Amino acid sequence: MNLVIFGPPGAGKGTQSKFIVNKYNLYQLSTGDLLREEINNKTKLGLEISSIMNAGELVSDNIVGNLIEKFISNEKYKNKIIFDGYPRTLNQAVNLDNLLNKFNQKINLVLKLSVSLETVKKRILERQSQENRKDDNEQVAIKRYQTYEKSSKPVLEYYEKSKLLKVIKGEATITEINSEISGIIEAIKG
Ligand code: AMP
Repeated sequence: MNLVIFGPPGAGKGTQSKFIVNKYNLYQLSTGDLLREEINNKTKLGLEISSIMNAGELVSDNIVGNLIEKFISNEKYKNKIIFDGYPRTLNQAVNLDNLLNKFNQKINLVLKLSVSLETVKKRILERQSQENRKDDNEQVAIKRYQTYEKSSKPVLEYYEKSKLLKVIKGEATITEINSEISGIIEAIKG
């Protein structure tokens, strides 16, 4: 089973992905984490993308597309991936389907965690004190939320059409969301 976890910054995608990874033996593919790794390692790509990320904007579809291809083409992860923070644009969603298709795979489920801007601001400020991310401050959080609002609609419509989308209220407690997600996954596994 491959699944996508979708939602604005601070929706709980990372937290819920880790829960699903442990419970169902999957692998988390967070494009945000991969990009931050490039920045921390001061690679050529890292230097190119740091100002874009720190401004709360999206890096190019090409760059993230290359990162995920490395993962999808690896037999170890076959049918075991949680895409966390990817796709974020319609182009990325189409690219993901094409890539998976090339390796005889598909997306089985898209989980959308919805939260308000107020919650996003609160959670991001909490996370800033724990993780020290450069893009976790109120101003950039608002920008990232706006970026999400702008680019997410066509992606959600795309997954609605393919009947893969399940919407979850991301304001509930972590445990409540854990069990809602488990219920959905169990139903799909049959
Ligand atoms: P995240 O950790 O998912 O919140 O991502 C942090 C930042 O990384 C985003 O604000 C973007 O600048 C960049 N990023 C992560 N994933 C993507 C993606 N799929 N497409 C474009 N940019 C991305």
